[in-house]
Amino acid sequence: MRGEAIVELEGVWKVYRMGRRRRIEVEALRGVYLRVERGEFLAVMGPSGSGKSTLLHLMGCLDRPTRGRVLFEGEDISSMRPATLARIRNRRVGFVFQSFNLAPTLTALGNVELPMIFAGVPRGERLRRARELLARVGLRERERHLPNELSGGEQQRVAIARALVNSPDLLLADEPTGNLDTETGREVLSLISGAHGGGVTVVVVTHDPEVAAAAVRALRIRDGRIVGGTDG
Ligand code: ADP
Ligand code: MG
Repeated sequence: MRGEAIVELEGVWKVYRMGRRRRIEVEALRGVYLRVERGEFLAVMGPSGSGKSTLLHLMGCLDRPTRGRVLFEGEDISSMRPATLARIRNRRVGFVFQSFNLAPTLTALGNVELPMIFAGVPRGERLRRARELLARVGLRERERHLPNELSGGEQQRVAIARALVNSPDLLLADEPTGNLDTETGREVLSLISGAHGGGVTVVVVTHDPEVAAAAVRALRIRDGRIVGGTDG
């Protein structure tokens, strides 16, 4: 029996236009079909430049396809109003990036609070939830630290807390262990696995065989096309 799709790509192309006259075309995705079911833990692998980040951005409604359709819970994102898209990005999807992408002038606590400010969560509730999430990722003692006062692994744990604080349905991680040593990478992977265990659908782009092994399904992308996958 097929489960319920959280996000689905139907014949998706993404063509970036470059150059002064925008005549140079880069085909980042070339007709991708992909269905991610609720509760999945999917790994996306493939060489640099193969379209993995582009795929993740489309799944997270950060960008629109050039051709084809991206459906979020069955609804075509191209026909959604900007406010609806913003709401999905803020409440339904959590992002984790290779380079952490924390706001440099905000403390760990401030970074985790940020998505709740956009969501209109009152201050008391924000502080309570931000502290709860920081404790969950083992950073209770670091809430007043700025990103540059934290190690890479700690910054990535703040980013995971931030990604999860609005209780998203879908967690998208783009090479989340790419800048971390093996041991720290394992800690980050265990947090991501924990989120999946708690019911979050996870899609992770990775070169790391340990991350791919933790996933339930892995697929491979090359030159903008899905070229293979494994189950189990
Ligand atoms: P990956 O994450 O697998 O390394 P990307 O999705 O980042 O691959 O990129 C796929 C292709 O699209 C690459 O050739 C890249 O140079 C190009 N690309 C990605 N983003 C842009 C952009 N914003 N503008 C132009 N070209 C881009
Ligand atoms: Mg990438």
